[in-house]
Amino acid sequence: MLDIKKIREDFPILKREVNGKPLVYLDNAATSQTPQQVIDAIVDYYQNYNANIHRGVHTLSQEATDKYEQARIKIQKHFNAAKSYEIIYTSGTTHSINLVANGFSALIKEGDEVLVSAMEHHSNIVPWQMLCERTGAVLKVIPMNEEGELRIDVYDELLGDKTKLVFCNHISNALGTINPIEEIIEKAHEVGAAVLIDGAQAAPHLVADVQALDVDFYTCSAHKICGPTGVGMLYGKEEWLNKLPPYQGGGEMIAEVTFEKTTYADLPHKFEAGTPNICGGIAFGAALDYMNAIGFEEIAKYEHELLAYATQELLKIDGLKIYGTAENKTSVISFNIEGVHPYDMGSILDKLGIAVRTGHHCAQPIMDFFKIPGTVRASFAFYNTREEVDVLIAGVLKAKSMLL
Ligand code: PMP
Repeated sequence: MLDIKKIREDFPILKREVNGKPLVYLDNAATSQTPQQVIDAIVDYYQNYNANIHRGVHTLSQEATDKYEQARIKIQKHFNAAKSYEIIYTSGTTHSINLVANGFSALIKEGDEVLVSAMEHHSNIVPWQMLCERTGAVLKVIPMNEEGELRIDVYDELLGDKTKLVFCNHISNALGTINPIEEIIEKAHEVGAAVLIDGAQAAPHLVADVQALDVDFYTCSAHKICGPTGVGMLYGKEEWLNKLPPYQGGGEMIAEVTFEKTTYADLPHKFEAGTPNICGGIAFGAALDYMNAIGFEEIAKYEHELLAYATQELLKIDGLKIYGTAENKTSVISFNIEGVHPYDMGSILDKLGIAVRTGHHCAQPIMDFFKIPGTVRASFAFYNTREEVDVLIAGVLKAKSMLL
Protein backbone atom coordinates (compact mmCIF):
# COMPACT_ATOMS: atom_id res chain seq x y z
CA MET A 1 0.00 0.00 0.00
CA LEU A 2 1.21 3.50 -0.79
CA ASP A 3 2.15 5.73 2.12
CA ILE A 4 0.48 8.84 0.73
CA LYS A 5 1.38 11.01 3.70
CA LYS A 6 5.06 10.23 3.15
CA ILE A 7 4.78 10.64 -0.62
CA ARG A 8 3.20 14.07 -0.21
CA GLU A 9 6.23 15.14 1.83
CA ASP A 10 8.26 14.76 -1.38
CA PHE A 11 6.27 17.51 -3.12
CA PRO A 12 7.05 20.95 -1.65
CA ILE A 13 4.35 22.66 -3.74
CA LEU A 14 1.61 20.63 -2.05
CA LYS A 15 2.27 22.59 1.15
CA ARG A 16 1.36 25.93 -0.37
CA GLU A 17 -1.87 27.82 -0.09
CA VAL A 18 -3.90 29.33 -2.91
CA ASN A 19 -6.31 32.13 -2.12
CA GLY A 20 -5.81 31.43 1.56
CA LYS A 21 -6.79 27.76 1.26
CA PRO A 22 -4.61 24.65 1.12
CA LEU A 23 -3.85 23.82 -2.50
CA VAL A 24 -5.86 20.89 -3.87
CA TYR A 25 -4.10 20.15 -7.13
CA LEU A 26 -6.36 18.24 -9.53
CA ASP A 27 -4.88 19.32 -12.85
CA ASN A 28 -2.44 16.45 -13.15
CA ALA A 29 -3.42 15.56 -16.71
CA ALA A 30 -2.15 18.99 -17.77
CA THR A 31 1.08 18.70 -15.82
CA SER A 32 2.16 16.79 -12.75
CA GLN A 33 3.93 18.23 -9.74
CA THR A 34 7.65 17.79 -9.16
CA PRO A 35 9.12 15.85 -6.25
CA GLN A 36 12.15 17.12 -4.34
CA GLN A 37 14.25 14.28 -5.78
CA VAL A 38 13.76 15.67 -9.29
CA ILE A 39 14.24 19.27 -8.15
CA ASP A 40 17.52 18.11 -6.53
CA ALA A 41 18.67 16.54 -9.81
CA ILE A 42 18.03 19.86 -11.59
CA VAL A 43 19.87 21.87 -8.93
CA ASP A 44 22.74 19.37 -8.89
CA TYR A 45 23.21 19.78 -12.64
CA TYR A 46 23.37 23.59 -12.55
CA GLN A 47 25.43 23.68 -9.36
CA ASN A 48 27.97 21.02 -10.22
CA TYR A 49 28.35 19.99 -13.84
CA ASN A 50 26.54 22.39 -16.18
CA ALA A 51 28.31 22.02 -19.55
CA ASN A 52 27.55 21.30 -23.17
CA ILE A 53 27.58 17.62 -24.04
CA HIS A 54 29.14 15.23 -26.56
CA ARG A 55 31.84 17.51 -27.95
CA GLY A 56 33.82 18.46 -24.87
CA VAL A 57 37.02 16.83 -23.69
CA HIS A 58 36.86 18.55 -20.33
CA THR A 59 35.55 16.90 -17.17
CA LEU A 60 32.30 18.82 -16.80
CA SER A 61 31.30 18.09 -20.37
CA GLN A 62 32.05 14.41 -19.91
CA GLU A 63 30.08 14.26 -16.66
CA ALA A 64 27.10 15.97 -18.27
CA THR A 65 27.33 13.67 -21.31
CA ASP A 66 27.47 10.56 -19.11
CA LYS A 67 24.47 11.60 -17.03
CA TYR A 68 22.45 12.59 -20.11
CA GLU A 69 23.19 9.29 -21.84
CA GLN A 70 22.52 7.33 -18.64
CA ALA A 71 19.10 8.98 -18.51
CA ARG A 72 18.45 7.87 -22.08
CA ILE A 73 19.19 4.30 -20.98
CA LYS A 74 16.79 4.69 -18.05
CA ILE A 75 14.09 5.76 -20.52
CA GLN A 76 14.99 2.84 -22.81
CA LYS A 77 14.72 0.34 -19.96
CA HIS A 78 11.51 1.88 -18.68
CA PHE A 79 9.75 1.46 -22.03
CA ASN A 80 11.66 -1.73 -22.83
CA ALA A 81 13.05 -0.45 -26.12
CA ALA A 82 15.51 -2.86 -27.71
CA LYS A 83 18.20 -0.19 -28.30
CA SER A 84 19.04 3.04 -26.48
CA TYR A 85 19.34 4.83 -29.84
CA GLU A 86 15.68 4.10 -30.52
CA ILE A 87 14.96 6.72 -27.84
CA ILE A 88 15.09 10.23 -29.29
CA TYR A 89 15.05 13.14 -26.86
CA THR A 90 12.51 15.77 -27.88
CA SER A 91 10.96 18.80 -26.21
CA GLY A 92 7.81 16.77 -25.57
CA THR A 93 5.00 14.85 -27.22
CA THR A 94 4.13 17.67 -29.62
CA HIS A 95 7.70 17.79 -30.90
CA SER A 96 7.84 13.98 -31.16
CA ILE A 97 4.69 13.82 -33.27
CA ASN A 98 5.81 16.66 -35.53
CA LEU A 99 9.13 14.93 -36.06
CA VAL A 100 7.40 11.79 -37.32
CA ALA A 101 4.72 13.64 -39.34
CA ASN A 102 7.37 15.73 -41.02
CA GLY A 103 9.46 12.68 -41.86
CA PHE A 104 6.52 10.84 -43.36
CA SER A 105 6.22 13.55 -46.05
CA ALA A 106 9.00 11.66 -47.77
CA LEU A 107 7.33 8.28 -47.35
CA ILE A 108 3.69 8.73 -48.32
CA LYS A 109 2.04 9.96 -51.49
CA GLU A 110 -1.19 11.34 -52.85
CA GLY A 111 -4.15 9.04 -52.29
CA ASP A 112 -2.56 7.19 -49.35
CA GLU A 113 -4.70 7.15 -46.22
CA VAL A 114 -3.87 8.02 -42.64
CA LEU A 115 -6.25 7.17 -39.79
CA VAL A 116 -6.58 9.20 -36.65
CA SER A 117 -8.86 8.55 -33.70
CA ALA A 118 -11.75 10.86 -32.86
CA MET A 119 -10.44 11.46 -29.35
CA GLU A 120 -7.05 12.95 -30.10
CA HIS A 121 -5.32 15.92 -28.56
CA HIS A 122 -4.80 18.66 -31.17
CA SER A 123 -1.11 17.77 -31.19
CA ASN A 124 -2.05 14.40 -32.67
CA ILE A 125 -4.39 15.89 -35.28
CA VAL A 126 -2.85 19.06 -36.66
CA PRO A 127 0.58 17.66 -37.67
CA TRP A 128 -1.16 14.90 -39.66
CA GLN A 129 -3.47 17.42 -41.34
CA MET A 130 -0.38 19.37 -42.32
CA LEU A 131 1.18 16.15 -43.62
CA CYS A 132 -1.93 15.48 -45.72
CA GLU A 133 -1.86 19.02 -47.10
CA ARG A 134 1.78 18.58 -48.13
CA THR A 135 1.36 15.17 -49.70
CA GLY A 136 -2.24 14.83 -50.87
CA ALA A 137 -2.81 11.91 -48.50
CA VAL A 138 -6.29 11.56 -47.01
CA LEU A 139 -7.06 11.84 -43.28
CA LYS A 140 -9.81 9.54 -42.02
CA VAL A 141 -11.28 9.46 -38.54
CA ILE A 142 -11.99 6.44 -36.32
CA PRO A 143 -15.19 7.54 -34.54
CA MET A 144 -16.17 6.98 -30.91
CA ASN A 145 -19.37 6.13 -29.09
CA GLU A 146 -21.28 7.98 -26.35
CA GLU A 147 -19.19 6.32 -23.64
CA GLY A 148 -16.05 7.75 -25.19
CA GLU A 149 -14.76 4.46 -26.59
CA LEU A 150 -13.37 3.99 -30.07
CA ARG A 151 -15.58 2.22 -32.62
CA ILE A 152 -13.30 -0.68 -33.48
CA ASP A 153 -15.96 -2.05 -35.84
CA VAL A 154 -15.62 1.12 -37.95
CA TYR A 155 -11.82 1.00 -37.61
CA ASP A 156 -11.94 -2.48 -39.20
CA GLU A 157 -13.83 -1.03 -42.16
CA LEU A 158 -11.51 1.96 -42.56
CA LEU A 159 -8.35 -0.15 -42.65
CA GLY A 160 -7.27 -1.19 -46.13
CA ASP A 161 -4.51 -1.35 -48.69
CA LYS A 162 -4.29 2.43 -48.84
CA THR A 163 -3.79 2.84 -45.07
CA LYS A 164 -0.20 3.83 -44.42
CA LEU A 165 -0.37 5.22 -40.89
CA VAL A 166 -2.58 5.04 -37.80
CA PHE A 167 -2.37 7.51 -34.90
CA CYS A 168 -4.09 7.11 -31.62
CA ASN A 169 -3.55 8.13 -28.04
CA HIS A 170 -3.02 5.43 -25.44
CA ILE A 171 -5.21 7.34 -22.99
CA SER A 172 -7.47 10.28 -23.82
CA ASN A 173 -6.58 13.47 -21.95
CA ALA A 174 -10.15 14.76 -22.11
CA LEU A 175 -12.03 11.58 -21.18
CA GLY A 176 -9.53 9.26 -19.51
CA THR A 177 -10.43 6.34 -21.82
CA ILE A 178 -7.71 3.71 -22.10
CA ASN A 179 -7.73 2.71 -25.76
CA PRO A 180 -7.25 -0.91 -26.91
CA ILE A 181 -3.92 -0.12 -28.52
CA GLU A 182 -2.78 -3.76 -28.74
CA GLU A 183 -5.70 -4.49 -31.07
CA ILE A 184 -5.26 -1.21 -32.96
CA ILE A 185 -1.57 -1.95 -33.60
CA GLU A 186 -2.10 -5.56 -34.58
CA LYS A 187 -4.84 -4.71 -37.07
CA ALA A 188 -2.84 -1.85 -38.61
CA HIS A 189 0.12 -4.15 -39.09
CA GLU A 190 -2.07 -6.70 -40.86
CA VAL A 191 -2.55 -4.14 -43.68
CA GLY A 192 1.08 -2.98 -43.52
CA ALA A 193 0.41 0.40 -41.84
CA ALA A 194 2.70 1.96 -39.25
CA VAL A 195 1.30 3.06 -35.87
CA LEU A 196 2.14 6.01 -33.66
CA ILE A 197 0.76 5.88 -30.14
CA ASP A 198 0.64 9.13 -28.18
CA GLY A 199 1.51 8.03 -24.67
CA ALA A 200 1.40 11.51 -23.07
CA GLN A 201 -1.48 10.60 -20.75
CA ALA A 202 -0.57 6.95 -20.30
CA ALA A 203 2.98 7.40 -19.05
CA PRO A 204 1.92 8.71 -15.59
CA HIS A 205 -0.38 5.74 -14.99
CA LEU A 206 1.10 2.65 -16.59
CA VAL A 207 4.24 1.33 -18.22
CA ALA A 208 4.06 0.67 -21.96
CA ASP A 209 6.33 -2.11 -23.18
CA VAL A 210 7.08 -0.98 -26.72
CA GLN A 211 8.49 -4.35 -27.80
CA ALA A 212 5.54 -6.34 -26.46
CA LEU A 213 3.17 -3.85 -28.11
CA ASP A 214 5.20 -4.07 -31.33
CA VAL A 215 4.40 -0.35 -31.76
CA ASP A 216 6.30 1.63 -34.39
CA PHE A 217 6.38 4.97 -32.55
CA TYR A 218 5.50 5.88 -28.97
CA THR A 219 5.73 9.33 -27.41
CA CYS A 220 5.54 11.02 -24.03
CA SER A 221 6.35 14.24 -22.16
CA ALA A 222 8.38 14.28 -18.94
CA HIS A 223 6.26 16.99 -17.32
CA LYS A 224 3.32 14.63 -16.98
CA ILE A 225 5.41 12.07 -15.08
CA CYS A 226 6.89 14.22 -12.33
CA GLY A 227 9.65 15.54 -14.60
CA PRO A 228 10.33 19.05 -15.90
CA THR A 229 8.65 20.81 -18.84
CA GLY A 230 10.37 21.11 -22.19
CA VAL A 231 11.61 17.53 -22.51
CA GLY A 232 10.11 14.29 -23.70
CA MET A 233 10.86 11.35 -25.89
CA LEU A 234 10.07 9.65 -29.12
CA TYR A 235 10.52 5.90 -29.29
CA GLY A 236 10.83 4.66 -32.85
CA LYS A 237 11.69 1.23 -34.18
CA GLU A 238 15.18 1.35 -35.61
CA GLU A 239 14.00 0.47 -39.12
CA TRP A 240 11.52 3.37 -39.12
CA LEU A 241 13.95 5.88 -37.65
CA ASN A 242 16.43 4.93 -40.35
CA LYS A 243 13.81 5.49 -43.05
CA LEU A 244 12.70 8.91 -41.78
CA PRO A 245 14.70 11.94 -42.91
CA PRO A 246 15.99 14.30 -40.18
CA TYR A 247 13.53 16.85 -38.82
CA GLN A 248 15.87 19.76 -38.15
CA GLY A 249 19.32 20.54 -39.47
CA GLY A 250 22.13 21.89 -37.31
CA GLY A 251 24.98 20.91 -35.05
CA GLU A 252 25.14 17.44 -33.47
CA MET A 253 23.03 15.77 -36.19
CA ILE A 254 25.71 15.58 -38.87
CA ALA A 255 28.51 13.17 -39.73
CA GLU A 256 30.28 15.49 -42.15
CA VAL A 257 29.49 18.91 -43.58
CA THR A 258 30.85 20.52 -46.71
CA PHE A 259 29.13 23.15 -48.82
CA GLU A 260 28.59 20.51 -51.47
CA LYS A 261 27.02 17.83 -49.29
CA THR A 262 26.24 16.94 -45.70
CA THR A 263 25.94 13.43 -44.31
CA TYR A 264 23.90 12.74 -41.23
CA ALA A 265 24.93 11.28 -37.92
CA ASP A 266 23.76 7.87 -36.78
CA LEU A 267 20.77 7.40 -34.49
CA PRO A 268 19.79 8.96 -32.18
CA HIS A 269 21.82 12.08 -33.05
CA LYS A 270 20.34 12.37 -36.53
CA PHE A 271 17.17 13.66 -34.86
CA GLU A 272 18.81 15.71 -32.11
CA ALA A 273 20.06 18.90 -33.77
CA GLY A 274 21.47 21.63 -31.54
CA THR A 275 22.19 21.81 -27.84
CA PRO A 276 19.45 19.77 -26.18
CA ASN A 277 17.67 20.24 -22.87
CA ILE A 278 20.52 18.51 -21.04
CA CYS A 279 19.30 19.18 -17.53
CA GLY A 280 15.77 18.25 -18.60
CA GLY A 281 16.90 14.89 -19.95
CA ILE A 282 18.75 14.09 -16.74
CA ALA A 283 15.75 15.17 -14.65
CA PHE A 284 13.47 13.02 -16.86
CA GLY A 285 15.61 10.04 -15.81
CA ALA A 286 15.35 11.09 -12.16
CA ALA A 287 11.55 11.33 -12.49
CA LEU A 288 11.35 7.79 -13.86
CA ASP A 289 13.55 6.59 -10.98
CA TYR A 290 11.21 8.30 -8.54
CA MET A 291 8.03 6.83 -10.01
CA ASN A 292 9.48 3.36 -10.44
CA ALA A 293 10.60 3.36 -6.80
CA ILE A 294 6.96 3.94 -5.82
CA GLY A 295 5.80 1.35 -8.36
CA PHE A 296 3.36 1.75 -11.23
CA GLU A 297 1.15 -1.14 -10.14
CA GLU A 298 0.58 0.45 -6.76
CA ILE A 299 0.07 3.84 -8.39
CA ALA A 300 -2.57 2.47 -10.79
CA LYS A 301 -4.38 0.63 -8.01
CA TYR A 302 -4.52 3.67 -5.77
CA GLU A 303 -5.56 6.03 -8.56
CA HIS A 304 -8.38 3.67 -9.49
CA GLU A 305 -9.68 3.81 -5.94
CA LEU A 306 -9.62 7.61 -6.09
CA LEU A 307 -11.35 7.55 -9.48
CA ALA A 308 -14.10 5.23 -8.24
CA TYR A 309 -14.67 7.29 -5.10
CA ALA A 310 -14.69 10.64 -6.91
CA THR A 311 -17.01 9.30 -9.65
CA GLN A 312 -19.44 7.92 -7.08
CA GLU A 313 -19.52 11.16 -5.08
CA LEU A 314 -19.76 13.47 -8.10
CA LEU A 315 -22.66 11.48 -9.55
CA LYS A 316 -24.63 12.16 -6.34
CA ILE A 317 -24.80 15.83 -7.41
CA ASP A 318 -28.04 16.69 -9.17
CA GLY A 319 -27.61 17.74 -12.79
CA LEU A 320 -23.98 16.58 -13.02
CA LYS A 321 -22.95 14.64 -16.10
CA ILE A 322 -19.65 12.86 -16.61
CA TYR A 323 -18.25 12.64 -20.14
CA GLY A 324 -16.21 9.54 -20.76
CA THR A 325 -17.73 6.56 -19.00
CA ALA A 326 -15.64 3.80 -20.53
CA GLU A 327 -15.14 0.72 -18.42
CA ASN A 328 -11.43 0.95 -19.00
CA LYS A 329 -10.41 4.43 -17.91
CA THR A 330 -7.86 6.24 -15.83
CA SER A 331 -8.14 8.91 -13.14
CA VAL A 332 -9.54 11.72 -15.28
CA ILE A 333 -13.10 12.98 -14.76
CA SER A 334 -14.58 15.43 -17.25
CA PHE A 335 -17.92 16.79 -16.13
CA ASN A 336 -20.48 19.58 -16.38
CA ILE A 337 -23.43 20.68 -14.33
CA GLU A 338 -26.52 21.54 -16.30
CA GLY A 339 -26.80 25.31 -16.64
CA VAL A 340 -23.26 26.02 -15.36
CA HIS A 341 -20.47 27.15 -17.67
CA PRO A 342 -17.27 25.18 -16.98
CA TYR A 343 -15.23 28.38 -16.81
CA ASP A 344 -17.41 29.76 -13.99
CA MET A 345 -17.13 26.49 -12.10
CA GLY A 346 -13.34 26.46 -12.50
CA SER A 347 -13.00 30.07 -11.34
CA ILE A 348 -14.99 29.46 -8.15
CA LEU A 349 -13.07 26.26 -7.43
CA ASP A 350 -9.83 28.25 -7.79
CA LYS A 351 -11.04 30.71 -5.15
CA LEU A 352 -11.35 27.66 -2.90
CA GLY A 353 -7.79 26.56 -3.64
CA ILE A 354 -8.85 23.76 -6.00
CA ALA A 355 -6.99 23.57 -9.31
CA VAL A 356 -8.96 21.93 -12.11
CA ARG A 357 -8.87 22.50 -15.86
CA THR A 358 -11.76 23.94 -17.82
CA GLY A 359 -12.34 24.23 -21.54
CA HIS A 360 -11.86 21.97 -24.53
CA HIS A 361 -8.61 20.40 -23.28
CA CYS A 362 -7.04 20.76 -26.74
CA ALA A 363 -9.53 18.19 -27.98
CA GLN A 364 -12.22 20.25 -29.70
CA PRO A 365 -13.57 17.36 -31.82
CA ILE A 366 -14.53 15.57 -28.58
CA MET A 367 -16.41 18.64 -27.37
CA ASP A 368 -18.14 18.89 -30.76
CA PHE A 369 -19.14 15.24 -30.48
CA PHE A 370 -20.84 15.87 -27.13
CA LYS A 371 -22.15 19.27 -28.38
CA ILE A 372 -20.67 21.19 -25.47
CA PRO A 373 -18.21 24.11 -25.33
CA GLY A 374 -16.01 22.38 -22.79
CA THR A 375 -15.92 20.54 -19.49
CA VAL A 376 -14.50 20.85 -16.00
CA ARG A 377 -11.75 18.26 -15.71
CA ALA A 378 -10.46 16.91 -12.42
CA SER A 379 -7.48 14.62 -12.89
CA PHE A 380 -5.92 12.71 -10.02
CA ALA A 381 -2.36 11.62 -9.33
CA PHE A 382 -0.97 9.19 -6.79
CA TYR A 383 -0.28 12.05 -4.33
CA ASN A 384 -3.93 13.08 -4.17
CA THR A 385 -6.14 11.92 -1.30
CA ARG A 386 -9.74 10.98 -0.56
CA GLU A 387 -9.91 14.09 1.62
CA GLU A 388 -9.06 16.17 -1.44
CA VAL A 389 -11.88 14.46 -3.33
CA ASP A 390 -14.18 15.54 -0.49
CA VAL A 391 -12.92 19.13 -0.80
CA LEU A 392 -13.65 18.98 -4.54
CA ILE A 393 -17.20 17.72 -3.96
CA ALA A 394 -17.89 20.41 -1.37
CA GLY A 395 -16.43 23.00 -3.77
CA VAL A 396 -18.57 21.85 -6.69
CA LEU A 397 -21.69 21.97 -4.49
CA LYS A 398 -20.81 25.45 -3.27
CA ALA A 399 -20.12 26.70 -6.83
CA LYS A 400 -23.39 25.17 -8.00
CA SER A 401 -25.37 26.95 -5.28
CA MET A 402 -23.68 30.25 -6.19
CA LEU A 403 -24.20 29.90 -9.94
CA LEU A 404 -27.71 28.48 -10.18
N1 PMP B 1 -1.23 14.29 -26.27
C1 PMP B 1 -1.97 14.21 -25.16
C2 PMP B 1 -2.94 13.06 -25.01
C3 PMP B 1 -1.83 15.16 -24.16
O1 PMP B 1 -2.57 15.09 -23.06
C4 PMP B 1 -0.89 16.21 -24.33
C5 PMP B 1 -0.70 17.27 -23.26
N2 PMP B 1 -1.88 17.81 -22.75
C6 PMP B 1 -0.14 16.24 -25.49
C7 PMP B 1 -0.33 15.26 -26.43
C8 PMP B 1 0.86 17.31 -25.76
O2 PMP B 1 1.92 17.22 -24.86
P1 PMP B 1 2.99 18.40 -24.76
O3 PMP B 1 2.20 19.66 -24.61
O4 PMP B 1 3.78 18.05 -23.55
O5 PMP B 1 3.79 18.36 -26.01
